[in-house]
Amino acid sequence: MVIIHWFRQDLRLSDNPSLFEAAGNGQVLPVFILDDHSAGQWASGRASRWWLHHSLEALNESLNGRLLVRQGDAEKVLRDLIKEYKVDAVYWNRCYEPWRIQRDQRIKKSLRDDGLEVKSFHGSLLWEPWTVLKKDGTPYKVFTPYYRKGCLISEPPREPLPVPKKIQCVAKIAKKNINTLGLLPSKGLVPEQNHEPADPSKQVRWDHNLYTHWCEQGRGVGETAAKNKLRDFINKGLNGYKEGRDYPARHSVSQLSAHLHFGEVSPNQVWHASAAAATENNAETDLDCFHSELGWREFSYYLLYHFPTLPEQNFQPKFDRFPWQDDPKILKRWQKGLTGIPIVDAGMRELWQTGFMHNRVRMIVGSFLVKNLLQQWRQGEAWFWDCLVDADLASNSASWQWVAGSGADAAPYFRIFNPVTQGQKFDPDGEYIRRYVPELSGLPNKYLFSPWYAPAHVLEQSGVVLGDHYPEPVVDLKFSRERALEGWQAIKS
Ligand code: FAD
Repeated sequence: MVIIHWFRQDLRLSDNPSLFEAAGNGQVLPVFILDDHSAGQWASGRASRWWLHHSLEALNESLNGRLLVRQGDAEKVLRDLIKEYKVDAVYWNRCYEPWRIQRDQRIKKSLRDDGLEVKSFHGSLLWEPWTVLKKDGTPYKVFTPYYRKGCLISEPPREPLPVPKKIQCVAKIAKKNINTLGLLPSKGLVPEQNHEPADPSKQVRWDHNLYTHWCEQGRGVGETAAKNKLRDFINKGLNGYKEGRDYPARHSVSQLSAHLHFGEVSPNQVWHASAAAATENNAETDLDCFHSELGWREFSYYLLYHFPTLPEQNFQPKFDRFPWQDDPKILKRWQKGLTGIPIVDAGMRELWQTGFMHNRVRMIVGSFLVKNLLQQWRQGEAWFWDCLVDADLASNSASWQWVAGSGADAAPYFRIFNPVTQGQKFDPDGEYIRRYVPELSGLPNKYLFSPWYAPAHVLEQSGVVLGDHYPEPVVDLKFSRERALEGWQAIKS
């Protein structure tokens, strides 16, 4: 029996229920299909495509070069392969984005109608969204009861599966090079972020920084990298996670989000490996906190499944009346990390340089965009979609709506982060700001978070000229806070 295992967001060999079953039942044809057409506006952004390229390379290597990659409408590609390789069955692990659900249901029906065996498996979430409901059968809208009363008291997440003992791949696979998918930026050297260099030799390809950060200085991309990173986190980050996770300069978070998004590691592997380590080290409180963050990932998928318009529409319709301002110039300054508010600029530059941003800083830059700058949360969602290596339709849209106050169980709109005090509290030594905004590194900590208050002689001694080396603030924080609250007053009733 020849079985297609259709790789999607499960780019791993271990704990892969569909691949495990396929390997046990027959010869496997391992396939990845880049189906941008079906994804439409939610085709992966550029940083995610960069990650995907490297992840597919790693997967192909672990399959001894047997991964078949194709591009185009998934159903058509599958039908061509079924014919070419005389396939009897198609297996995959389920995905939960609305466009994927619709497409997969259509394909399942149509292939089954043609007599093929089609099976889908539970491989990318701890609890599938339809299995956790309130007593009255409706979905939860608030995280704590969803997680504590719904998830934690239902079936515990299953134990991870091993790598199949043997994966007998179909002989003579007509492979295409992963490069043909065009996932890496091919044309156009993009100028450095903050200035347009006149000298073309100063231009860098934007993915160069991603490569340095993740592949040269980090653990790399792919299943082995994910496992190593999980091990590092368990050994060095989990103990103290609850307190440390809010400090962007510390190495207290796992940085597993992109690995989880692409399924290089499963949430079950992360859940059980962290639980085992925490029991050994008496780190139960940290574990509870870490597991609840995995719970937020689940909740995001849950919301997306039950409320599929989450990426496009305000969850709370009253936000349709919010007086957003559409200002491309202001938006650009935010995108480029040139707002003049150091912690915001540090975050936006971390995003640009690494494709990642620490969660605390995501909340600060998000609040600043939608509240102080009054830009629509969808603008932030779109920029993150393009720039994050972990861009994930569920977590990104649920988190942006959370930040904007328009989501389910969201941060109340009137709670507006003060980016100065947030910086002072969570980056007290200014290490994070100095790393990403080096032009301010000479300023003493007292003024690092709000350089506009620095007396002229301090600025001079630090070599900072506001409005020249570093911008003046794009808005006055007090005024913009009050303006945001007025907007809220207008819609709240
Ligand atoms: P850790 O603290 O080590 O947590 C472990 C895992 O739990 C993460 O890898 C992630 O899968 C999950 N997780 C942690 N926090 C959250 C959260 N608040 N919501 C959902 N899952 C969470 N996360 C994404 O994976 N993709 C996104 O596109 C994304 N967009 C975001 C946009 C905004 C505006 C905000 C405020 C948050 C966003 N997040 C997103 C959530 C969160 O910031 C990242 O998951 C987290 O920073 C990843 O870092 P980590 O792996 O070190 O997390």
